[in-house]
Amino acid sequence: MIATALQEVQARIQRAAEQAQRAPDAIRLLAVSKTFPAEQVRAAYEAGQRAFGENYVQEGVDKIQALSDLRTELRWHFIGPLQSNKARLVAEHFDWMHSIDRVKIAERLHAYRPAEWTPLQVCIQVNIDGQASKSGVAPAEVPALAAAIRALPRLHLRGLMCIPDPSQDAESLRRRFDEMVALRDALTVEHGPLDTLSMGMSADLELAIASGSTLVRVGTAIFGQRPSLAP
Ligand SMILES: *Cc1c(COP(=O)(O)O)cnc(C)c1O
Repeated sequence: MIATALQEVQARIQRAAEQAQRAPDAIRLLAVSKTFPAEQVRAAYEAGQRAFGENYVQEGVDKIQALSDLRTELRWHFIGPLQSNKARLVAEHFDWMHSIDRVKIAERLHAYRPAEWTPLQVCIQVNIDGQASKSGVAPAEVPALAAAIRALPRLHLRGLMCIPDPSQDAESLRRRFDEMVALRDALTVEHGPLDTLSMGMSADLELAIASGSTLVRVGTAIFGQRPSLAP
């Protein structure tokens, strides 16, 4: 049952917040609904969930349209890698975009964001493990990308996002999350407050919250195992 699973995840967030002596409402839950049908999103909505994350542009747009009766109540977050030729669909349908990793994507999103809408809420994705194969910008390049985004009024920079390699041990994961906090703090000195650190998933949300995550992205623990994609 999605309602029960949501309650369990909320309880995990609450416990982790208490252990870190943080206010539980300082951490928002993003339900990652990728690969799950619109009816499951509706069930989560009926259980009280409002923010949903999608990884694949067309799948996300299809779901947003299938649930258009709920559009004013739901917040849709795009969290996947984005090719610049799909930026228009994200700008025209989503509320948030977590995975900006280059100026070109930011400029495209800005160009296509309808002027009458609230600005697209965005995060910079950081390649916190420093692996060439991973998406995200290198930590050293974050300040320049943040400055470029700040110059685009149809985008509102909210913070940073990361997806650390889940195979590392808890101690190194914790170090990655702490590095994200330091990066955010360094940016804040120059740019003013950034209220979002998008980090932590089903398996590591407690560690992320202990470091200072403000938004955890949880799929499996809410919707169940995703069907594995073809290799
Ligand atoms: C799939 C996905 C998640 C959710 O992962 P779970 O382990 O199922 O909680 C979170 N963030 C991103 C970017 C994802 O692609």
